[in-house]
Amino acid sequence: MFFDILTLFPGMFEGAFADSIIKRAQERKLVTIEIHNIRDYSGDKRHGTVDDYPYGGDAGMLLKPAPLAAAIKAGKERLSSLNPKVIFLTPQGELLRQPVVESLLSEQALIILCGRYKGIDQRIRERYIDREISIGDYVLSGGEVPAMVLVDAVTRLIPGVLNDRESAEADSLYNGLLSYPQYTRPEEFEGNRVPEILLSGHHVNIKAWKEEQALANTRARRPDLWKEYEERINDKIRNSKS
Ligand code: SAM
Repeated sequence: MFFDILTLFPGMFEGAFADSIIKRAQERKLVTIEIHNIRDYSGDKRHGTVDDYPYGGDAGMLLKPAPLAAAIKAGKERLSSLNPKVIFLTPQGELLRQPVVESLLSEQALIILCGRYKGIDQRIRERYIDREISIGDYVLSGGEVPAMVLVDAVTRLIPGVLNDRESAEADSLYNGLLSYPQYTRPEEFEGNRVPEILLSGHHVNIKAWKEEQALANTRARRPDLWKEYEERINDKIRNSKS
């Protein structure tokens, strides 16, 4: 997959993708990540101005439409053979939950626009953006950290990126539930032993224990996910009867 990130602060990405899983994914050519400076599209060679005061007298500055349009058009041209989708990161977007991450896996290329200041001109949102995504109900200073979150979350699901030991399938939310508790050596730590079942070598019982724990964990900590899980189960029962 190709990620084209449009930002006013390319320096923030130095290091973000230079280690571990994302680094390996790039080396294996499973993902390509390019960072582009919106200022290069300002059209104002002397000052590189990209922001202006909002109409209506609000405080703060907004990103002007022309540089954003030029940066997005250039991205679309670069990636024309991959039919890129344009994503704007904004606290007003749909929440980046695991099903949203999974839905992005079917794309070949994403152009990711990072907002700054008070945000961007509405006309860009209406004319150029395919999807608006929020990483949570809080306001950050810019879209750069959300872009890193999005790229990481999508990349780790691309086939071949994780090896078996890091498999995404045991992670929380992969199947809509939280994960079960996990332990490593030693068997006893500060007087607390690893649950005996995990030492038993009995794979069927261990699998059942993990499922039980995942359900109990989800029920205790995330009533919203638990409710969705119950709805899925009820739907399955209804469908099997009809
Ligand atoms: N005035 C904007 C509003 O009310 O929607 C918020 C502007 S925020 C200070 C600046 C930029 O940070 C936004 O344009 C967006 O790109 C990014 N941002 C802030 N919080 C975010 C979040 N929760 N998810 C995704 N992007 C966010």
